[in-house]
Amino acid sequence: MPIKTPIYLDTASTTPVDSFVVSKMMSFLGVEGCYANPSSTAHRLGQEAASAIAVARKTVAAEFRCKSDEIIFTSGATEANNMALLGIARAYSSRGGHIVTSAIEHKSVLECCHALEREGFEITYLTPNSAGWIDAESVKQVLRPDTLMVSLMHTNNETGVQQPIPAIAEILTEAGILFHVDAAQAAGKFLLDLDEIPIDMLSVSAHKFHGPKGAGCLIVRNRRRLHMKPLIYGGGQEFNLRSGTLATHQIVGFSEALRIAANNREHDLAHVTKLKLFFLAQLRSKLPIQVNGDIEHSSPYIMNISLAGISSDALINQLLNEIAISSGSACSSGTIEPSYVLRAMGIEGDALYGAVRISFSRHHSVNEITQAVTSIIAAVYRIQALSE
Ligand code: PMP
Repeated sequence: MPIKTPIYLDTASTTPVDSFVVSKMMSFLGVEGCYANPSSTAHRLGQEAASAIAVARKTVAAEFRCKSDEIIFTSGATEANNMALLGIARAYSSRGGHIVTSAIEHKSVLECCHALEREGFEITYLTPNSAGWIDAESVKQVLRPDTLMVSLMHTNNETGVQQPIPAIAEILTEAGILFHVDAAQAAGKFLLDLDEIPIDMLSVSAHKFHGPKGAGCLIVRNRRRLHMKPLIYGGGQEFNLRSGTLATHQIVGFSEALRIAANNREHDLAHVTKLKLFFLAQLRSKLPIQVNGDIEHSSPYIMNISLAGISSDALINQLLNEIAISSGSACSSGTIEPSYVLRAMGIEGDALYGAVRISFSRHHSVNEITQAVTSIIAAVYRIQALSE
């Protein structure tokens, strides 16, 4: 009997590329396609590639209500986060060395902060409350005259909890402090209107919304005023901020995936909200579970739960052939260290070692969710029987 493909419930880690996006990307790769270097504008083929990039840039700018020349295409959110933190800190180090972030950021923010600490910067790591929430007032309280920037995520990749970004942005505008937001788990899925919310820098990653891996951007508002330092030097592409031949197929794939996500946003949100609530209700009717993170302030795409007395490793192993879920984030799995995000929320013991992340997408059906819940319940009974 052929082995059944497990139901993929790990979309916070990555998503499959939309098939329309795949075919669009293919038309920028082969000899029949628009493969020329978009910087080679001396010839028509290069001009065609440059114009595809310009259209993609406009599409991304329209989604975030910003200007085309505020988009800097990158290899994804890791690079965008590095560019925002290191690029600003190194450009403004003479003005003050204090940066505010939180203990529950993605490693691509935390590791930049650790590197900046080694360069002499002072970093304040805010801790969330037990619901995974960072209060806007707590940001205000740690600001200092030498605070250069605040970097916080929009939606947490492990719990789905969403921070009060508009309220924090307002405080920082008043204080004249730069605000960077890691929107890797939010872009495309939620409307992020930069005309409404005064965010200075926003990190985006395409592979979280059915675009290709290795594509994304950093949006830098009022770029000309900011004098950021580049991380990559070379031919001066991307307004001298990110040199290297532009990957036309990746950028077009990113913008097409974003356009599709934006067009279907309301529908997809309603769909995944229904799936998450259904999942929780079904599971709760059979097993005692703890939801980690404030469900009222969380993305319907992500759910983090602990099943009483069941370790996440045992559960994930039992489910290997049935469903694909993760414990904590993919970036830190492979190590036996439990989630630093949940730990910062004060979650300890069984709940910490038993936490699993389940994440949804527009492609899931109610039927698949029913099957997944049935598989989890059966796996829990098997684990309990083994330990008796
Ligand atoms: N920030 C967050 C919140 C993420 O979830 C991720 C992806 N795991 C990243 C940054 C890194 O994004 P990328 O994979 O595009 O480098």
